[in-house]
Amino acid sequence: MTIPVNDSLQGRTILVTGAGDGIGKAAALTYARSGATVILLGRTQSKLEAVYDAIASEKLPEAVIHPLDLAIAGSEDYDVLGRSIIDQFPALDGLLHNASELGALGPIQYYAPESWMKLMQINVNAVFLLTRALLPALEKSDEARILMTSSSVGRKGRAYWGAYAVSKFATEGLMQVLADELADTTNIRVNSINPGATRTEMRRSAYPAENPLSLPTPESLMPAYLHLMQAASHPLHGQAIDIRTLLTELSAK
Ligand code: NDP
Repeated sequence: MTIPVNDSLQGRTILVTGAGDGIGKAAALTYARSGATVILLGRTQSKLEAVYDAIASEKLPEAVIHPLDLAIAGSEDYDVLGRSIIDQFPALDGLLHNASELGALGPIQYYAPESWMKLMQINVNAVFLLTRALLPALEKSDEARILMTSSSVGRKGRAYWGAYAVSKFATEGLMQVLADELADTTNIRVNSINPGATRTEMRRSAYPAENPLSLPTPESLMPAYLHLMQAASHPLHGQAIDIRTLLTELSAK
């Protein structure tokens, strides 16, 4: 399946976390190629600059780089970002919570408490803090989309997946609570997505013996990531979406 390139996100502003690598990088490029101004949030400035340059070299809407280490950012950092988006843009139309860490894999009994806390800070608390700070900008949009990234281990627990699995269950919970709070609004839709096994650094860390060439690329997921940012996805709200199932549905249309 090829990456759709069209103007379906023309004039939209979309923030992607973890935009410097893996699935987030592919999503940032896809949204830019569809006309959106993309705010690239991530930890490693040089990676964000490479995505910024790729977007500029294709003469797409100029991106914005926002380096932020989610492990150490405080609520004031998120509030500053929220205010600057309101100052610079008419609204925020999309928020892809994509950044995550895998952390240690191993039995709960031997999981280092400080590693657990750090992973929860990145994978859960940062998602709450960022969402909370950006809701005022999202409320200004006529068609805002929030996507939170889950995993199959966030929908069914699996031994030794530790804080990562628990953080993804929490992500599903945050999505459901927020979706219910927004049930009476029509302009913000929130869902969670499970990309499934994908050829990235995170997957390589989790399965070092696996042949990466046997896995789908981030780019191959992009028709679904694009669909979920578009107006056409409006009926979806409060749903735990499996990207592979959605891709099959989209390719059958
Ligand atoms: P990658 O490891 O390739 O990319 C993760 C991105 O998150 C990187 O850009 C990384 O920044 C950023 N990030 C990590 N920690 C922080 C932090 N403290 N502050 C800011 N940014 C941070 O992962 P994937 O692309 O594979 O994963 C994307 C999402 O998909 C994740 O939520 C993951 O849980 C989920 N997922 C992935 C699967 C897979 O098989 N790949 C399967 C199921 C779910 P930097 O590059 O600077 O390190």
